[in-house]
Amino acid sequence: MSSASMPRSVKPSTLILSLVAGLVGGIIAHQFSDVTWVNAFATHILPPVGQIFLRLIFMIVVPVVFSAIVLGIYELAEGQQFGAVARKTLFWTFIFSGISVAVGVTLVNLVQPGRIVKIDMGIAAQSKDLLSSIAANASSGKSFSQTLIDIIPRNPIEAAVKALDGEMLSLMFFALAFGFALFQTTGRPRTVHAILKELFDVCLYLMSWAMKLAPVAVFSLTFGSFYRSGLQLLVPLGAFVLVVVGGLLFQMIVVYGTALKLIARKSPVEFFRQCQDLMLYAFATASSNASLPHSLQTAEKKLKLPPRISRFVLTVGATANQNGTALFEGVTVLFLAQLSGVHLDLTQQMTVVGMAVLAGVGTAGVPGGSLPLVMVLLQQLGIPPESLGLILGIDRLLDMCRTVVNVTGDLAIATIVSHGQDPLADS
Ligand code: ASP
Repeated sequence: MSSASMPRSVKPSTLILSLVAGLVGGIIAHQFSDVTWVNAFATHILPPVGQIFLRLIFMIVVPVVFSAIVLGIYELAEGQQFGAVARKTLFWTFIFSGISVAVGVTLVNLVQPGRIVKIDMGIAAQSKDLLSSIAANASSGKSFSQTLIDIIPRNPIEAAVKALDGEMLSLMFFALAFGFALFQTTGRPRTVHAILKELFDVCLYLMSWAMKLAPVAVFSLTFGSFYRSGLQLLVPLGAFVLVVVGGLLFQMIVVYGTALKLIARKSPVEFFRQCQDLMLYAFATASSNASLPHSLQTAEKKLKLPPRISRFVLTVGATANQNGTALFEGVTVLFLAQLSGVHLDLTQQMTVVGMAVLAGVGTAGVPGGSLPLVMVLLQQLGIPPESLGLILGIDRLLDMCRTVVNVTGDLAIATIVSHGQDPLADS
């Protein structure tokens, strides 16, 4: 499919306008939530638009993940580049995640938000239902060896069905194996390769239809998030929010900016300009998976990265490279420990860093995907798991912010790994 036949994407300025209108509108409407028509508008009329948009995107995520990984692996194997690209991707994933959690943990120790914040513990009780559903997910927490075993799906169709509910790694494993086998058995592009290529192009084309709804969907999603939570928890939890957001900004501007400049020789300003509408979109949807089709397009059309590399790095990264989430998980665990009066010594804090890096790999790229993992970390460290309820009211806003870092981090790694590759060498 020629790119000429792709409908034009929405202008970033339109998306910014929708986002700001949603943000301001949601905050104002929150103050009037007892007015019947405001409540009806915010809970019944507006949300379906955002939900329809998200579903239009989610519906293509499974075929996009499968076709992008198979094509990526096939083409990397063909160019004898798979080993190098996979090694570099893994290396940067752990480096960026490690730095990200270290930044968060340092800030949380410096600022000590758990000692500053004065919050009514009754807030946790208000989130009882949500907490028990998170706990149900968390208690399905398995041993490390079982987690590893489960990456290999018993039934790839089942893995595809449950991909958006946390089985994405299994689907990715199947696609990875399939891509290699396809290369080994056909040796050169043939029917299955051509079909998957068309499947991939058609899915991105479908996404461009969904994107027509983007301005009103971004408004609806942002409005909904701010309408539900308002800003009243921002003040009592201010120190915690500042640590999370400050850490995320540091990771994004300083860590990615420096790495892009020094390693990929790419101007960070240009990089962020090219990624700006993707970042807005990640903010509004709070989902790396929903942002994946858009990331793939940004990598190919704006950053001009070689598709065989960006398809592999971004698809794997949408689930496995979640720097913002890893930072959030580390900060939240330490914050709740401070708040609950649980002292964690240096070794335990190092354990938190390691666990948060790994938890970032296992987090589903959907809104709130990290919460069950935070609960597992709390349980393992002897911090009351119900203390998570204290931050649930503010989580969606933080989720929007950390998803921006997750998605931008994937593109930063794709840019670094692609450095020195010839984009024209791809079909
Ligand atoms: N919403 C995040 C993402 O999709 C995951 C999380 O941190 O909850 O990347």
